[in-house]
This record gives sequence, C-alpha cells and structure tokens, in this order.
Amino acid sequence: MAKSKKAKAKQTHENFDVKSFVEKTLRGAFKKTPMYHEAKRRAKREFFEESKHGKLMRRVHFECASCKGLFFDRKGAKEIAIDHILPVVDVEVGSADYHTYIQRLFCSVDNLQCLCNFKGERDGKKSCHKIKTAEENVQRREAEARRKLEKQE
Ligand SMILES: [Zn+2]
Repeated sequence: MAKSKKAKAKQTHENFDVKSFVEKTLRGAFKKTPMYHEAKRRAKREFFEESKHGKLMRRVHFECASCKGLFFDRKGAKEIAIDHILPVVDVEVGSADYHTYIQRLFCSVDNLQCLCNFKGERDGKKSCHKIKTAEENVQRREAEARRKLEKQE
C-alpha cells in the first residue's frame, strides 16, 4: 500500500504482483460484507431539510469518528472510508501471510470506524483517514528498520 502512484509500472504477465492483486481484491470484497455495511449504517446521519421550493429533501451524511464532521458518500463526492481501528497490516509485524490478512480484514464491526477521507486538504488539514494511514506507515517503516537492525546484530 505504500507504493507511490507515480512510480507504478504497467503490469504485465512477467511482473504481475500476485500479493498486491489478491490483497486489493480482498479489500474490494470486504466492502460487500455485513460488517462493512453495519459500520457505515452506524455512522449514517439522516435529516430532512426544506428546499427553496418548500419541498422536503432527505440529506444523508456520515459522521467521522475522529473529527466528528459530516461527510458525503455519493457518486462524485466520496468523502469517507471505513477504517480498521486495529489496522489490517500490523504496524509492528508488517506484512503477514494471507490467512492473517484475511482474519484481520474481515474483522468484527467493533474494530471498524468511519473516517473522513476527502481528497486534498480542507482548512489546511488532510482527512482523518489519510492522517491515520500516514502515521501507521511511519510506524511500519520504523518497525521494519528495527527488525533489520536486530538481524544484523
Ligand atoms: Zn475526520
């Protein structure tokens, strides 16, 4: 997941990355689970608002568990992500086998939260999901560096 988008080379049958393909596919499948939908349902905030023409309009937002802001999740305005509180890839252990990956990905709804995940910055701040992911990646790199050091000793 830490790969930069710019450096991504075209996939061919020769350089095909099975692990990242499988993990990406599993992440897609996770969005079809009842746990995912339940986490979204818990964050859903619905209210009715009167339009200029006096019509009642249904407004649907999702509350970010971190900043408590309200965000959209609709075509053209996907601003949320369902986040694994305990990340799928353990920050200390790093990349693990498929079985561990699947167990951590398809976790209980109690380990899931809705976080804002908008593009770019708002009021000079990145989204809560991007901030959390960046922090986890720093921890992962530090743990990896520690493991390498321990091997050398
Ligand atoms: Zn937020």
